[in-house]
Amino acid sequence: MNTASLTMQEQHLNSLRELLLSADGKKRAAYVLCGRTVIDTDPWDGQSHRKFTSYEVISVPDNEIISDFAEHITWKTDSFVRALQTAQAKKLTVALFHSHPKGSDKFSSQDDTNEPDLIQLAQNRNGSDTQLLSVILTPEDNLLGRLWITPQETIPLRMIQVVGDSIRLHYPNRGQGVSPVAFQRQALAFGEALNQDLSMLRIGVVGCGGTGSAVAMLLPKMGVRNIALFDKDIVEDTNLNRLHGACQPDANAMTPKVEVVARSLVELGLDVQVKTYEAWVGESICRDVLKALDVIFCCTDDHVGRLMLNRFAYYYVTPIFDMGLAIEVSQTEATSFQALDGRVTVLAPAPGHNCLLCREVINPVIARDEGLKRTNPTEYERRKAEAYVIGEGNPSPAVVLFTTEVAIMAMQELVHRLQGFRGKDGSTAHRVRKFHLMSDRKPAAVPNLSCPVCGNVGVQWWGRGDIVPFLNQVE
Ligand SMILES: [Zn+2]
Ligand SMILES: [Zn+2]
Repeated sequence: MNTASLTMQEQHLNSLRELLLSADGKKRAAYVLCGRTVIDTDPWDGQSHRKFTSYEVISVPDNEIISDFAEHITWKTDSFVRALQTAQAKKLTVALFHSHPKGSDKFSSQDDTNEPDLIQLAQNRNGSDTQLLSVILTPEDNLLGRLWITPQETIPLRMIQVVGDSIRLHYPNRGQGVSPVAFQRQALAFGEALNQDLSMLRIGVVGCGGTGSAVAMLLPKMGVRNIALFDKDIVEDTNLNRLHGACQPDANAMTPKVEVVARSLVELGLDVQVKTYEAWVGESICRDVLKALDVIFCCTDDHVGRLMLNRFAYYYVTPIFDMGLAIEVSQTEATSFQALDGRVTVLAPAPGHNCLLCREVINPVIARDEGLKRTNPTEYERRKAEAYVIGEGNPSPAVVLFTTEVAIMAMQELVHRLQGFRGKDGSTAHRVRKFHLMSDRKPAAVPNLSCPVCGNVGVQWWGRGDIVPFLNQVE
């Protein structure tokens, strides 16, 4: 392993703040059990990467803290051993969290002295390949972390991401860079930190049709550099009205959509690294890159792919911005619409973020039929002939004005979550824009506690990371 990072659920950080930053100014500690995700080769830097995701917070009782001098903390090992026990049983990794209420934003020499004993203890108990995370909550509310591989060796966490209503990134020297000339006007609006954040993120676009190509074209212009595109289709004449970057020769040559979109992005010359996957997102060749992504835009109309990503957001604490467009022309009056709706739904393991099944965006029957078509085309055709499956209907209407606007709505939601330009409570988990009525609807969601994806009661899956089978789905 060469690099490591941590993604936290915002609600976990909120409880840690309460546990660690008490009014008496004393130091406190807590443990967080973390799911782990192995990325064999990161597509952008070629390194193997381990991504940890917060799964459960465990407080350390006050009576187990035996020393709380201003610059260091020592705790009895009882609760640590209990955390190690649970971690071993559930295949999780323990993270030590402590605060430096008055102190520095660096690991102290006392931390450097104490922590090797703890990793030694962890490896003696749980095996020599056991790792240990150590994270400091700094006085400025920043996070800084490292991963212990052996009692002699640590690697710094490349980034700590906090995901919930907002998305906050923590990495060294955040906000202290100077934006490239092309992005200075944007920095005047949003500050340097947003530009720097966007340049660090790995962002995926699933589906490169009208909406996906619009999202993709916006990414480099916002300052995103690491981009992955997924689509197995080729450009056709019928796409040319809305597929950004595609032209007639691409349709004639039956060029893959990902290639056409990637070409347009690279031509912008904004230092982008585009990786293309001419594949269905559920295929195994896409898995490593999916796990490497920090943010995903879901612009597909494929229900099975969406069903997989719907789980992925919660298991891997990866925010997904899912988009859709519904145009229904009235049968009676040619010029009126029953629906002219653009939708952006954010999937993340956070309160108020119901999944696409609970929002009835995914139709499980269509998903089942699509799955059958992929795994057993003969049986699919037989059932279709007997009208047991819904099958593909007429092509649905699509207009570039609306596919592009939905893409912009989704991108604005991401920028707000990173930078906060809409102010407190500005995040919207589910927004439907009625283009013909010139109004936005934000239907609230009643939590569905029994949902196996977004319910998070009973057996918990949020932040679980890699498990077998993948996403707990039978493959
Ligand atoms: Zn410390
Ligand atoms: Zn749900």
